[in-house]
Amino acid sequence: MLDIRELSKRFGYGNGAVTALHEVNFTIGEGEFFTLLGPSGCGKTTLLRLIAGFSSPSGGALVLDGKDIARMPPNQRPVNTVFQNYALFPHMTVGQNVAFALEAQGRPRTEIAPAVDAMLKLVQLGHLKDRKSSELSGGQQQRVALARALVAKPRILLLDEPLSALDMKLRKDMQIELKRLQRETGLTFIFVTHDQEEALTMSDRIAVMSGGRVQQIATPRELYDRP
Ligand code: ADP
Ligand code: ADP
Repeated sequence: MLDIRELSKRFGYGNGAVTALHEVNFTIGEGEFFTLLGPSGCGKTTLLRLIAGFSSPSGGALVLDGKDIARMPPNQRPVNTVFQNYALFPHMTVGQNVAFALEAQGRPRTEIAPAVDAMLKLVQLGHLKDRKSSELSGGQQQRVALARALVAKPRILLLDEPLSALDMKLRKDMQIELKRLQRETGLTFIFVTHDQEEALTMSDRIAVMSGGRVQQIATPRELYDRP
């Protein structure tokens, strides 16, 4: 589905240049829960930002259904991102935060209201629709961020360490919640983490990264059997 071909990213020039990604190659399947796992500085965020369109590659292609999305502006890519810090609008209500994604696309009001209600129901926040997002707990705010990212109907959802700001108990709950959302929507999730246990519990497949390269791609089962 998403074919990552010879993708590279360099920052800076000459002696000061850093190669954050070295001609990375792999394919992510439709509906997969795919995880980028590796220590800080290995290039996970760089790869995610290239897919999102927040940054442009130094070389290579990102082919989605035969089209190189690396040449498309971010707002035209069928991709949405959930960030570690949620990035909600604190003075807006939960409902307004989710509606914003559709208003930005210029959708009619009659379409927005039912879509927002359905999405809040999916993340089990219907009862908090009229609360300010700043009044919610961390886990609830992350659910709002998920609803806002999903309501625009992307093909791919990018999750950049979305659980790392949460405490242990909430983190476990949100792991289950994320898996449920992925199953129910059938979307492709690309998940970034440095937490091996989290990767093993959640993923269909894991790309193990270090030093700007993908060292191996395996299922959790395969990584247990021969790590
Ligand atoms: P990770 O997400 O795995 O922690 P990053 O993708 O953030 O890793 O970083 C990979 C490498 O690229 C690191 O060496 C980092 O310092 C470098 N890097 C990332 N972004 C920039 C940038 N904008 N300018 C210069 N170097 C960068
Ligand atoms: P480009 O516009 O070349 O595609 P980006 O969109 O990746 O580059 O811009 C990189 C931004 O990320 C910079 O503005 C910088 O503030 C930030 N950044 C992230 N990690 C680093 C790092 N390790 N060193 C410097 N800047 C970084």
